[in-house]
Amino acid sequence: MSSTPEFAHLGVHGDVVIVGGGLAGLFCALKLAPRPVTVISAAPLGEGASTAWAQGGIAAAVGEGDSAESHAADTIAVGAGLVDEAVAHRLAGEAAARIHDLLSYGVPFDRDLEGRLAVAREAAHSARRIVHVRGDMAGQAIISALTETVRATPSIKVIEGWFADGLMMHDDAVAGLRLRKVGQAAGTPMHIPARAVVLATGGIGHLYAVTTNPIEARGVGLAIAARAGARVADPEFVQFHPTAIMVGRDPAPLATEALRGEGAILINGQGERFMLAAHPLAELAPRDIVARGVFAEVASGRGAYLDATKALGAHFAEHFPTVYESCISAGIDPATQPIPIAPAAHYHMGGIAVDMNGRSSLRGLWAAGEVSCTGAHGANRLASNSLLEAVVYAARIAEDIAGTELSATKSRLETHEPATTPIDPAQELLLRQTMAGKVGVIRDRDGLAEAVRTFAALEAETTSTTLANMATTALLVATAALARTESRGAHYRADYPAENPAQATRTTTSLAEARERAAALGGGAAPSPRLSAQSALA
Ligand SMILES: Cc1cc2nc3c(=O)[nH]c(=O)nc-3n(C[C@H](O)[C@H](O)[C@H](O)COP(=O)(O)OP(=O)(O)OC[C@H]3O[C@@H](n4cnc5c(N)ncnc54)[C@H](O)[C@@H]3O)c2cc1C
Repeated sequence: MSSTPEFAHLGVHGDVVIVGGGLAGLFCALKLAPRPVTVISAAPLGEGASTAWAQGGIAAAVGEGDSAESHAADTIAVGAGLVDEAVAHRLAGEAAARIHDLLSYGVPFDRDLEGRLAVAREAAHSARRIVHVRGDMAGQAIISALTETVRATPSIKVIEGWFADGLMMHDDAVAGLRLRKVGQAAGTPMHIPARAVVLATGGIGHLYAVTTNPIEARGVGLAIAARAGARVADPEFVQFHPTAIMVGRDPAPLATEALRGEGAILINGQGERFMLAAHPLAELAPRDIVARGVFAEVASGRGAYLDATKALGAHFAEHFPTVYESCISAGIDPATQPIPIAPAAHYHMGGIAVDMNGRSSLRGLWAAGEVSCTGAHGANRLASNSLLEAVVYAARIAEDIAGTELSATKSRLETHEPATTPIDPAQELLLRQTMAGKVGVIRDRDGLAEAVRTFAALEAETTSTTLANMATTALLVATAALARTESRGAHYRADYPAENPAQATRTTTSLAEARERAAALGGGAAPSPRLSAQSALA
């Protein structure tokens, strides 16, 4: 046990600490201005955030003839019975205002010849309603504009290159964070006090061997909240993007859905358009159905390809410069050749359970963006609703914090400092391969039970706090997937291929419950003394 080490040299501002430098974190910081806040980001701003890689854009019913009601209805339909309808209506209803906020922060959304916001179509949207930037450059443009605005806002202090790996608690309320320097996982941690913590750490894709997410998306934010006792909602629902480009890169570059919106088709190695037989909407069917179609072709050995040679041909580079670059750098010319693809872990619908104001079940802890679970996505996310959810909830959290009397700051916090080591690459590979193979596009009881035992053992045995956090999140996903004995939305069980109306409810769980489930399967070694100490800290 030790007391709070020196943190002054980090120059923390104010009593609100936001963890994450993606859209949710930066937008929340800007909305809180001029209140002093500190933003902690593992990667330098503009890097290591899924936001920067978004190609489609943001869904908002700003086009002629479109309406928030229609947007909410599409969101509810795609969520396979689990979307919280009140949340979907408020999300769609607040979209236009948040797009105007982004314009005021300098995001140069594309406009049509009359100067109105240009809107594109994406799968399962009943109208053209995706606002975008220079075709597929939305994410880059959003993060650049917000980074510039944040850096020019004196009330926001940004600390880059440090990551949060534990929450500090006092009297059942969040009282601060334990930080470690990136690249020095085994170094001395830093503890910073906070009266309000906003977790905006993004998704969990990097827990999977094949993913479109950056390495920072390891589910650490979700794990530290769960270790502190926060409720977690719908963790079993992970969306797999059907068209990750398979050119041996980790993470895999993405071929945006908008390509299929523009007429690109899916074929197997024999040139057959396999989605025609799978769904009436063929290539524009909901993501989970397309992902399973692609998965089946890859698993059969026929391979799967995205063919834009007829739909775009010579216009490919102009309309989809990011995808074009990814292909060309791997020696594939998408104007003339089909692109090899496979499904990849892409988006986590589940996360830290939050209410309409982004509050978690723990006093002093809010969560925004992909790390949270608001109920907006249910069992499946409608394309381009995630960036929207990030801004809508970041704004609400800022408003909520402004109107909340926060607990007093603790000047000295008793902290535990678990010894930690760098991640063992073999253990990390085991975790990522187990997630991809057993907790992936197609799941079944035996595979999930094996995964639960593997993650429980890793969580208990590893000497790396980062790997322990990764295993915690993996355990939450796998135990919930095992408990849901049906197929719904993105969660597909080969042993329960049908939807079961009796299970048409969202689930919430705690880490203690997940560990109990693991123990019942014979995989629940009691957390080691080292991990017990971490739990006490967290
Ligand atoms: C390739 C790709 C394309 C996509 N396209 C679209 C799209 O067109 N439209 C759409 O709506 N959605 C899209 N998505 C999903 C969307 O981009 C994300 O859901 C969204 O950007 C999440 O924003 P966020 O702020 O929650 O997290 P992120 O943008 O991922 O930011 C997370 C931040 O937290 C930091 N971080 C993580 N862990 C820690 C830690 N422990 N300590 C400190 N910092 C930490 C990271 O460094 C990063 O700064 C796409 C996702 C991907 C991967």
